[in-house]
Amino acid sequence: MLRSFSRIVNLVITENGRTMIYLWTIGVLATLSAAAPARASAGGAADVRRIPVTLVTDSFFRQMPNWRGLAEGALTRATEDLEKDAGLRFTVEGEATWEVPDSAGSMDAMLRSAMTAVPPGPGILAILIGPREDNVPGAELGYAFLGKPALLVVAFNADGHDEKKELALVMRHELGHVFGIPHLQGRSVMNPIPDSRAWDFGELGLDVLRANRHMDFTSENPFSACDLGMLRDVYVLLDQRGEMEATLLLDLARAFELRGDLSSSEPLYEAALHRDRWSASARIGIAHCAMATQDTTKARVLAHALASMDLSPRQQSALGELWIRLHDFAAAESTLTRAVAKEPIPEAWFNLGLARSELRDRAGAAAAFRRYIEVDPEGARREDAERHLEAAASH
Ligand SMILES: [Zn+2]
Repeated sequence: MLRSFSRIVNLVITENGRTMIYLWTIGVLATLSAAAPARASAGGAADVRRIPVTLVTDSFFRQMPNWRGLAEGALTRATEDLEKDAGLRFTVEGEATWEVPDSAGSMDAMLRSAMTAVPPGPGILAILIGPREDNVPGAELGYAFLGKPALLVVAFNADGHDEKKELALVMRHELGHVFGIPHLQGRSVMNPIPDSRAWDFGELGLDVLRANRHMDFTSENPFSACDLGMLRDVYVLLDQRGEMEATLLLDLARAFELRGDLSSSEPLYEAALHRDRWSASARIGIAHCAMATQDTTKARVLAHALASMDLSPRQQSALGELWIRLHDFAAAESTLTRAVAKEPIPEAWFNLGLARSELRDRAGAAAAFRRYIEVDPEGARREDAERHLEAAASH
């Protein structure tokens, strides 16, 4: 039995009184077979992941002739072989308009602005910026990064070229980044230099797409549902060829760590550190692995190295936790105090409470535990924090 659904959503959002976004999902047509037996049909069609795409366009893009046909045609062209080759099907299911804010001085700022204005939901945003007099900053044609469900493409519309094909090529390249493919040397669509690009992802690129096709776009751990073993094999090979990026190795190392597989994550953190000698995140990861094997000497050396680096509040929070595990409560206290002064990270407040308790600063500890409960009332350690507060009150 086939059923069809169509729905129209019309949202108008006003941001700063200037940016108007009209988001409408037209005729989301879903056909599903209800009460049908498990599929026995050939081709593995049931195993295809469907990814809804929302086209986000600016007014310059919409001035291009037949802009909607151009955008949809480019997306189809960019992705049509991926259903067969990687089990991924991309379908346009919504549209939104958005304008580049004057304050956006980089591709990254533009991407973030569009993602704030148009929340991507379970799918991906294809953000299309049209040609204009003073074209966008930088000479790049596109921008995207791992696990963030958005890709930005700039149309140049120079005379005499096939705009749809050009757009498709850039979309394809950026989709590769979204799914975790780094820049590759040689003739592939992932070559960093647009003129050196070919159409194909290449075998290793396709392997990454296959390993990552269940990428989670909504969490801090985009690889949580991916085939980590397969991905590691490809990433290690690419790393040996000098084609790997430290951030991808870090994300994979963290995914293994979150699965509790520290023996897999440690060499990846080491590889990330080898690629980027100044990576604080890689050092934090290696220290976690060292603590898991009770190698406190190694963890202490790393903690001291981290203490002399310029850290983000999240990294300071992680370092503070490490100091606690190393029983250096004074170092933990000062590190965590600096972290929460910049960002009210719940774990940092909780750990600050622990550090101050150990240092017999009862009033300071109580204040930190109270802040933890205020900042994250649903926090996993709320009961712990309340217990500490009761103990402090009884003294
Ligand atoms: Zn690129």
